[in-house]
Amino acid sequence: MLEVGYLSLSSPVAVVLPWHGRKSGFGGLFLLESFDLDRTSLEEIEEALRDQRGGLGDSRDTGKDKAAPLGFSIRSSEDDGPIMDAARMAGKNLYLLEIDFSDEDDPERMKGLVSKIKSCGATLSIRVKPEILQDGMVAELGRAGLDIIHLDLIGMNGVGPKIVKKTADAIGPKIMAMGDVGDFEDAKALLAMGADMISLPSPEPGVAKRLSDQVSKYDDQSGWYNCPKHICSGGDLRGLAFCCPPVKHCPVLGALKKAGFTPESFVQKKLAFAKGTPLEKGDGTCFGSLVWCCKITKPCYLRDAALRRYGISGKEYIRLKKDLAENLLRP
Ligand code: SF4
Ligand code: SF4
Repeated sequence: MLEVGYLSLSSPVAVVLPWHGRKSGFGGLFLLESFDLDRTSLEEIEEALRDQRGGLGDSRDTGKDKAAPLGFSIRSSEDDGPIMDAARMAGKNLYLLEIDFSDEDDPERMKGLVSKIKSCGATLSIRVKPEILQDGMVAELGRAGLDIIHLDLIGMNGVGPKIVKKTADAIGPKIMAMGDVGDFEDAKALLAMGADMISLPSPEPGVAKRLSDQVSKYDDQSGWYNCPKHICSGGDLRGLAFCCPPVKHCPVLGALKKAGFTPESFVQKKLAFAKGTPLEKGDGTCFGSLVWCCKITKPCYLRDAALRRYGISGKEYIRLKKDLAENLLRP
């Protein structure tokens, strides 16, 4: 379902566990946390990871299928040497390395570390409290090669989706959101604003599997598990895939500015993407091409008639819009 660096996740639901804790469970990714490099040796970390590996399955698990990707979350004081050793070990074993900056307030150290770690090939996540993210920083971390920004949104009830949207609109790394997620609707609120993954800290047994199954079913039915809202309904910039040509005064103009498009370049990029794809067609729709059409959840008999005429299913239409959104926002 999701590729991040060298990790291949069958579900966007990640499980965060204390490293000396439970040794079984289900999720798309397991992250063992709270390794303090000032007190824990690399050998101890490797042993803890090996120890956990056997018991952790992926989200489709029936008790015996393949192991999910594994990662570990570290902290360290001023000395970057042990962090670099951990990065090399992560890269060699294809683990996700996470640096936990949630109790730190040193953006400069964070930026410097990202470039250094990425040069040794590890797939990297940085965990942060959103308040330390200064303007422009998410994009900068993305340019430095950061794979995942792990937003710690615990206790931020209500504002979590807005923070995710702001982070997504910066067009940087993939977003993993750790929020107060109790059910599928909570997860969907974060995914719809641009979260690529949801992380659950020490979930009750069965919760991660249930959520994984629900997200997977939703993806299977809809074609896009984290489909955005329309821009005019408060969606993140991926919602530009559903926008019409910018011919009237509406929120698309602000979104284009944020994404670095002029109205003309936006029209050109959308038309160039559509050329030769099923989205190019659209006789009878408002703008003559499905590339300008709205979300499938917005009732429209004109679009639906066009989809029927061309034999395009609703799911295929949404998958094409997902490809379009990725193409539009690719740096
Ligand atoms: S272009 Fe259409 S979909 Fe986009 S913000 Fe404007 S009215 Fe909404
Ligand atoms: S035809 Fe329907 S789906 Fe397409 S742009 Fe017009 S209102 Fe939206």
